[in-house]
Amino acid sequence: MKLLDLCDYNASLLQADQFKDYCPNGLQVEGRNEVLRIATAVTASRQVLDYAIAWGADAVIVHHGYFWRNEDARIIGIKKNRIAELLKHDVSLLAYHLPLDAHPELGNNAELGKLLGIKELGRFGEQNIVCKGVLESPLSLSQFADKVGESLQRAPQAIGSPDRGIRNVAWCSGGAQGYFEAAIGQGVDAYLTGEISEQNFHLSNETGVAFIAAGHHATERLGVQALGEHLAQKFSLEHRFFDQENPV
Ligand SMILES: [Zn+2]
Repeated sequence: MKLLDLCDYNASLLQADQFKDYCPNGLQVEGRNEVLRIATAVTASRQVLDYAIAWGADAVIVHHGYFWRNEDARIIGIKKNRIAELLKHDVSLLAYHLPLDAHPELGNNAELGKLLGIKELGRFGEQNIVCKGVLESPLSLSQFADKVGESLQRAPQAIGSPDRGIRNVAWCSGGAQGYFEAAIGQGVDAYLTGEISEQNFHLSNETGVAFIAAGHHATERLGVQALGEHLAQKFSLEHRFFDQENPV
């Protein structure tokens, strides 16, 4: 398919212009016009680009692209190396950040809820990005943490009494530890996100609401894969997801 048709389709599917984001969503680096092979990944790292180019990808679609607000705008250092590699091979980079967290079916949060057996009941927080719902069957914190670890293949860090009952859960993929207080305000038993900050421990300790840090990378692998599969089926494209090991 044509690159610009792919970009237009994604923009309307993900409602990319509805979000106030920290980076440009959509085409970030323009490559060849014709797209057959799409590579997906969490982050457009050098290793991911190497994999994708070796496979013969025409376009790379990621959750974490380039040109973040407040970053140094100059194309130097690792940014130069990454962009040079894309341009040299005429490969496009498309990035979708908040639109890919939030999409009601393909998004990181929707997919994470499905994977963990949480029935979604609503959303809250800035731009309605955080989900809340109820576990299909209530678990103790230690049982829920085990389930998270098995599902994401990474042991989470769980703060709270292991015996604490967990039924109502709020969750948001990635670095969304800043929403913990808002989640507590929703009356949940536990909040799950990718990363943890020092103060989250005290907030958990003094409110009794459990906090689970399940990995930034681990919680953001789902959306971009679902998008890649969707595009492959819809437009008869070839798709591969490249999962670079990342313990954070
Ligand atoms: Zn992220």
